[in-house]
Amino acid sequence: MTTANLLEFDLEGLAAFCEKLGEKKFRATQLFRWIHQRGASDFTQMTDLAKSLREKLATTARVEALPVLTQHESKDGTIKWLFDVGDGNAVEAVFIPEDDRGTLCVSSQAGCAVGCRFCSTGHQGFSRNLSTGEIVAQLWFAEHFLRKHLKRTERVISNVVMMGMGEPLQNYSALVPALRTMLDDNAYGLSRRRVTVSTSGVVPMIDRLGTDCAVAMAVSLHAPNDALRDDLVPLNRKYPIAELLEACKRYLVHAPRDFITFEYCMLDGVNDQPEHAKQLIELVRTHGVSCKFNLIPFNPFPASGLLRSPQPRVLAFAKALSEAGLVTTVRKTRGDDIDAACGQLAGDVKDRTRAAERMAQRRASSERPIVLHPVRKTSTVSQEH
Ligand code: SAH
Ligand code: SF4
Repeated sequence: MTTANLLEFDLEGLAAFCEKLGEKKFRATQLFRWIHQRGASDFTQMTDLAKSLREKLATTARVEALPVLTQHESKDGTIKWLFDVGDGNAVEAVFIPEDDRGTLCVSSQAGCAVGCRFCSTGHQGFSRNLSTGEIVAQLWFAEHFLRKHLKRTERVISNVVMMGMGEPLQNYSALVPALRTMLDDNAYGLSRRRVTVSTSGVVPMIDRLGTDCAVAMAVSLHAPNDALRDDLVPLNRKYPIAELLEACKRYLVHAPRDFITFEYCMLDGVNDQPEHAKQLIELVRTHGVSCKFNLIPFNPFPASGLLRSPQPRVLAFAKALSEAGLVTTVRKTRGDDIDAACGQLAGDVKDRTRAAERMAQRRASSERPIVLHPVRKTSTVSQEH
């Protein structure tokens, strides 16, 4: 008999599952806490659950994490995990420690169908959506692994950004229960302001998210006009900038923050000129959308044929926006020595043969233990998520 992976359920889903087993709803809360707050996967450990329930769970359910294929730690303390999601597909999650918070960057799909020109995930094409359990498993594993690794009893991950592989709003039905689990006080209890969905602009789903589960929103803008954005972010042909900005305004009615973060990847000679800054200022003024800008240094990869804007140009662009009254930060690149920086998350989907080979090798060498260096404290960084 196939058993249910309990990581697939938010609390409501788990309550429905418990009811089917003939159990009272409050049992689901206890179970949810064991799994997410304490990282338990073995039902025999859950000593405050009735023995009869534990026995039922043993035959009908499981708590199954994703196998870790590799783990890399950057010299700046960033840790990247590559998780096996089967059939030669792998996805990545990245932990970014900072003095005042710990951020986990989570994937929502294996590959991505949007195909942005500057994104290495986009260049790999789309393999499949992750399930709710596969999204939650990244946080479940990272949080409980880090607590052990750092010998901490309190929470390590305070922020989640859906900025790993994939377009979260093209995997909406799996995303929403995953977000609810992140926010649930009986699970990770993250603040809505500290969970960010980043989207290339799936307009109808921005509206739905506003009513279903409003969290902080980042929109990958990258261009100040439709001609350029059509080229960089092909989804723009379906949902052009004006529609996107209007959706942002509607979202703000529900959002936990009073601004949208616009991400803008700085591409040498493509979108980084003074006239682009001018157009951007004009654009957000016309639409009257409350926003902050986050300029992202482009992380180059050969197939893109694009180059990173030189730093003085990034700073000049930031200055132009700031002088027009727009709050602008420049993202600090983290973990680039381990290919964990934005847009470098290819998850080996690009080379399925190699990924499959590596998985086979790993299985053959039977679960090598992962050796880790202690996570170093980093100096203050202004990573704006
Ligand atoms: N699909 C979503 C979330 C994942 S991408 C989105 O597009 O928003 C997360 C962020 O990384 C986005 O802002 C994206 O534009 C940026 N990004 C992608 N490729 C990049 C690259 N090569 N260098 C820098 N940032 C990149
Ligand atoms: Fe997909 Fe985001 Fe990459 Fe575009 S930037 S291809 S939407 S993951």
